Amino acid sequence: MRELIFLKPVFTHNIWGGTRLHDEFGYDIEGSDIGECWGIAAHPNGDSTVEGGSYDGMKLSVLYQEHRELFGGIEGDKFPLLIKIIDAHDNLSIQVHPDDGYAGVHENGSLGKTECWYIMDCPENAKLVVGHNAASKDELESMIHEGRWDSFIRELPIANGDFIQIDPGTVHAITTGCLILETQQNSDITYRVYDYNRLTNGKPRELHVEQSIDVITVPAKSADDSLSHTAERNDSAADVLIENNFYKVFKISVKGSFEFEQSYPFLNVSVVEGSGSLDGHEIKKGTHLIVPAGYGSMSLEGDMTLIASTVSR
Ligand code: ZN
Repeated sequence: MRELIFLKPVFTHNIWGGTRLHDEFGYDIEGSDIGECWGIAAHPNGDSTVEGGSYDGMKLSVLYQEHRELFGGIEGDKFPLLIKIIDAHDNLSIQVHPDDGYAGVHENGSLGKTECWYIMDCPENAKLVVGHNAASKDELESMIHEGRWDSFIRELPIANGDFIQIDPGTVHAITTGCLILETQQNSDITYRVYDYNRLTNGKPRELHVEQSIDVITVPAKSADDSLSHTAERNDSAADVLIENNFYKVFKISVKGSFEFEQSYPFLNVSVVEGSGSLDGHEIKKGTHLIVPAGYGSMSLEGDMTLIASTVSR
């Protein structure tokens, strides 16, 4: 099957959202509180729509159910991954996700959430919350119950092009001014530990303190094991950023022309910088598409950076 599947994203309004998804990406969405662009998503809270081609207008969840051959016939009743761009005009809440085991029991059979972030843009001297400083479960509980947030959270300095893996059980938060491409398991289960005492419509958002304490890993994984600096390429290349049980993620740099062999069950592709073409189709920052099973060689031209992902085998 030699047909690319272009997708129309779904957007979310969030207390911490902004206008960059409209202003910088040209997405057709209005509002000053647009937090997330769900570029490749087949979730009940957001389902991308195919744009053009044989499956024009079909939801990704339906395409996945009815044309599993496009996805290499993989098992599983839900499309496994979800790709988002996040515009944090303000700090996101400090949160943690459960793993499959905990979510399956406590969240109605839902999947857990393992995720990773590619930093598309961040302010100078930006820091993200990744991990915490509690040495034991007792210390974790007292820090949280006593609200000792400054000593509890661990902040890591970041720069454009950094890559961060967030395992379930990792305390994390995206901070003001960061624009991030997130690759994650197809799940929306989040436990909020702390929300800076903000109010939405006069009320604080719900916290999930007990669930958070249940699932937070103690001690946290080391900072070095959580963050890496991706290669800044002057020539074309495909670098593997991570491969784990849930996903394999590539950074594809195109400077001129580049061939990439699509030999996976499917390949999610998002353009995070620049513009160019893929087998003659124009693509640019903000384009999201799926390259189906059996596609073979992809001819990329232009000056651009793509983040691509597939399931691990
Ligand atoms: Zn998260």
